[in-house]
Amino acid sequence: TGPAENHVFQTETRQLLDIVAHALYTDRHIFVRELISNSSDALEKLRHMQTTGEPVEDPDRPLEISISTDEEAGTVTISDSGVGMSREELMENIGTIAHSGSKAFVKQAREAGSKDVGANLIGQFGVGFYSAFMVAEEITVYSKSARPDAPGHVWRSKGEGEYSLARADGLKRGTTIVLKLRSNAKDFSRTKTVEDVVKRHSNFVGFPILVGGEQVNTVGAIWAEPKHLVTEEQYLGFFRFKTGQQYSSPLMRLHFAADAPLELRALFFVPELNEEGFGLGRAKPGVDLYSRKVLIEAESGVMPEWLRFLKGVVDSEDIPLNISRESMQDTALMLRIKSVLTRRVLRFLESELRRDRALYSKFFAEFGTYLKEGVCSDAPYQPDIARLMLFESSALPAGELTTLDEYISRCPPGQERLYYIVAPHRGLAEASPYMEAFKGAGAGGRDVEVLYAYSSIDDFVFQQLGQYNGRSVVTAEASDLGLSPPKPADKKADGSKADGDSSKDSAASSSSPALSPEQVAELGEWLSSEALSGRVKVVRASDRLRSTPAVVVDHESASVRRMMKMLDAHKR
Ligand code: ADP
Ligand code: MG
Repeated sequence: TGPAENHVFQTETRQLLDIVAHALYTDRHIFVRELISNSSDALEKLRHMQTTGEPVEDPDRPLEISISTDEEAGTVTISDSGVGMSREELMENIGTIAHSGSKAFVKQAREAGSKDVGANLIGQFGVGFYSAFMVAEEITVYSKSARPDAPGHVWRSKGEGEYSLARADGLKRGTTIVLKLRSNAKDFSRTKTVEDVVKRHSNFVGFPILVGGEQVNTVGAIWAEPKHLVTEEQYLGFFRFKTGQQYSSPLMRLHFAADAPLELRALFFVPELNEEGFGLGRAKPGVDLYSRKVLIEAESGVMPEWLRFLKGVVDSEDIPLNISRESMQDTALMLRIKSVLTRRVLRFLESELRRDRALYSKFFAEFGTYLKEGVCSDAPYQPDIARLMLFESSALPAGELTTLDEYISRCPPGQERLYYIVAPHRGLAEASPYMEAFKGAGAGGRDVEVLYAYSSIDDFVFQQLGQYNGRSVVTAEASDLGLSPPKPADKKADGSKADGDSSKDSAASSSSPALSPEQVAELGEWLSSEALSGRVKVVRASDRLRSTPAVVVDHESASVRRMMKMLDAHKR
C-alpha cells in the first residue's frame, strides 16, 4: 500500500455532506439500497463488457454483491465484483457529485435553507453514495478496476471536507466499501437488520446479494416472465424497487410480450404522482432498456419524451449488446421499437379510458399535461393522443369529463367545429361574454356545447391540434365562429350587437338592440377611427352577444400572453 495523498471535496459535495451528516432522518436505511444499487450498476457494466468481448480481470469471478457485518467493530461492509474504479474514477465519481439527483438535492436544500427540509428530501432523491454518511463516521472504499492489470486503490473519508487516496495491493476486481458506523447507527452492524432492509428494498436487484454468506434476494427479471407467473406482490415490490418509492403503489400497470414485428418484453407502471409536480424540474426518462436481461441503458431514450412519466423496463432480443449508446437513438431498429411501444401504450391508455373512467380521470388529472405535450410534439401520433384528453364541458355538470369523441357524438348534425374556451376555472368560463354566443336553449339562443379548458397551455394545445376527426377546433374567442344563426326569437332580441375584430390586441364597441343599421355603422366608425383608433382593426355588428355590449375577438395576444405567463412561472 502506497503513501496516502489528501484531497478536498468540491464545494457542492461539502455542502451535501454537511446536510447529510446532520440530517435527522428516520429512513436512514436507504444507504443500503443506494450502495447496493451502485454495486448492481457496476456489475451490469462488467457483464456488458464481458458480453461484448472486452477483456476483464479475473473473468471467472462470480458476479455478486456480498454484505458482512461486525457487531464488535461496529462496521458494515458491502462488496461487489463489478467494474471497480481506477484512481481517476475514484476521484471523479466519489470526490465530486456526479449523481444528478444529488445536484438537484443540494439546490433544493439550499433554496429551502433548512436542514430539516434537506433531510426529508434525502429519501426522495436518493443522494447516492453520500447517503452512507448518514450512518457512517468514516468510510473506506477499496477498489480495483476490471481492466486487466489495473492497480488497486483505497479511498478514505470522514465526510468532513477531505478524503485520502492511496495505492492498495492485493485487491480483487471490484469494490469493497467499509462503513464505520456512528454510535447512533450501530444497529446496521447486525446481520438481521441488514438482511431485513435488503429484502424489503433491494429484492429485485439482478445479482445475488449475500448477507453473512447467505443469498437473501430473489433475483428476478419479472418482466421476462409470463404474466400469469407474476404475483401482485412481485409487481408491487418491483415497482417500489424501480422507483425507490417505498410507500406508493402504481396507478396502472402494463405488462406485455410481443414477437412480431419485433421480439419485445415490457413492463410499465404509471406511478401515483407526477414527480414534475414537485417543482424539481424535468423528470428523467423512467424506462430502462435491456437485451436478454443485460442492461443496455438505464433511463433510456427508448420511449418518446412525452411518455417519460412511465416507469419500467423494455427488453428486446433484437438489440445487439454492443450497440453504441450514442448511435442508438437514431438507428432504424430503435425507431421501430419506439413506435411499437408508443402504439402499445396508446392502445393501453385507450382501453383504460373505456374500462375505468374514474381511474383514468385520476390518471389524466396527474399526467394529462404529458399527453398534451405529446399532442404538440409527436405529430405522427397526434390524433391518437388527442383522443385521450379529457375536459369539462358546458353540456356536462361540473366535475364530469368528456373526450373529444364524446363531444362529437353529442354534436347536432351540421355542427362542423369543436369549440373550447380557456379560463382559469369553470365559474369564469361560464360567465365569460364569449360564451354568450353558445348559450341558451330557448329563443335567441343556440345551445352549442363548448369544452372548458383550465390550463394555460390549452390554447396552445388546441392550436397545435388544429382539427380533430375532420372538424376544426375553434376557440370561443375567434371572430368567425361558424355558428348558425340563433333560434328565431321575439323582435326585441333580434338587434345587432357589435364586436371588434382585430389581429392585434384590441378592444371594441357596442350597440343597443334599438339601433338602426345606419346608427350601428356610425358607432362603428366612431369607435374604430376615434375612440379606439389604432387599437382595433375592424368594428363589426354581430349576433354573438346577448347581454354584454361588446367583446374583443381574434386577440391572439391573449393566448400568447397566457403562454408567456406560464413560461415565466416555469422559469421561476
Ligand atoms: P449514481 O449512482 O447516481 O451515479 P452515486 O453517488 O450513487 O451516484 O455514485 C457515484 C458514482 O460512483 C457512480 O456513478 C459510479 O461511477 C461510482 N461508484 C459508486 N459505487 C461504485 C461501485 N460499487 N463500483 C463502481 N463504481 C461505483
Ligand atoms: Mg447510485
